Amino acid sequence: MDIKVENLSKLYGSQKAVDDISFVVKTGEILGFLGPNGAGKTTTMKAITTFLKPDSGKIFIGNINAIDSPQEVKKKIGYLPENNPLYSDMAVIDYLRFVAALNGVAKQKIDERVLEMVNVCGLKGEKHKKIEELSKGYQQRVGLAQALIHDPEILVLDEPTTGLDPNQIIEIRELIKRIGRSKTVILSSHILAEVEATCDRIMIINKGKIVANGTAAELRKHSQGNDLIIAEIEGNVSRDQFYTALAELPHVEMVDFLSDSGNKFEIQSTNMSATKHDIFDLCVKNKWYLVQLTPIETKLEDIFRELTLN
Ligand code: ATP
Repeated sequence: MDIKVENLSKLYGSQKAVDDISFVVKTGEILGFLGPNGAGKTTTMKAITTFLKPDSGKIFIGNINAIDSPQEVKKKIGYLPENNPLYSDMAVIDYLRFVAALNGVAKQKIDERVLEMVNVCGLKGEKHKKIEELSKGYQQRVGLAQALIHDPEILVLDEPTTGLDPNQIIEIRELIKRIGRSKTVILSSHILAEVEATCDRIMIINKGKIVANGTAAELRKHSQGNDLIIAEIEGNVSRDQFYTALAELPHVEMVDFLSDSGNKFEIQSTNMSATKHDIFDLCVKNKWYLVQLTPIETKLEDIFRELTLN
């Protein structure tokens, strides 16, 4: 089931929290939603899950118009909100039974479904504890379990790994990936490595506007090109000689020493592929031994900063 957002806007007073954004998320796709604090991620997610009415624009969940038919949409969506509100004095298992009934799981299926989610989300040892007695990470797992309980076709997860320890993060990431094969998933996160590891596509929002939308590789391609090459040589050559030769190559913008001893340099180029070949040819011509030629991709952090630092 696809999610289609068309010209969505939401104002708070005169501030545009979301400013005329449009995008589509396809079935089987996991979309990573990134943006600095206050960029408009939660507002967009709340609008999709019908917990907030936008000022203008349209949202379709499959063929259902989310603004006209919020109740119908809620049945199709599992939502883990940012501040995962849980009934803290309920036992995990009772809470999940309650949410299952609320989300229309057939009475005779509730226990089976609750047990399945307890297993899937790693809550076996905690299921009889009160939610308030759980650690933050386990509370987050209960939040995920409640989002999944009615086997929704769409999952909207606002920072799903907040509060989890590194082991739990890996487990939940794998779980989301598994689920994402058959469902449509949007997840927001501040952890860029997590988004890159989990998501098929990344969308970056800044000040209510979408500033990037594509795979990590596409985003790198369109970025300002801070790609680097690390080159190291051995042989009868001084550092200055190698430095000068590198700096004189076409397309090379910057050359930096990388170690105090040895001929190891970091090279910034406007044409990575040509520069790699040029360095190789340079070494062959001078009979220098090339012992390292490593391209370093632009970090997602750098792309994020480039797009959102204004
Ligand atoms: P974060 O990463 O910090 O969670 P976000 O990208 O989810 O941020 P939103 O919560 O969508 O950002 O907020 C977008 C903008 O709308 C912010 O400037 C915020 O202050 C404003 N905003 C959100 N909710 C309200 C509200 N109920 N009343 C007034 N302004 C609001």
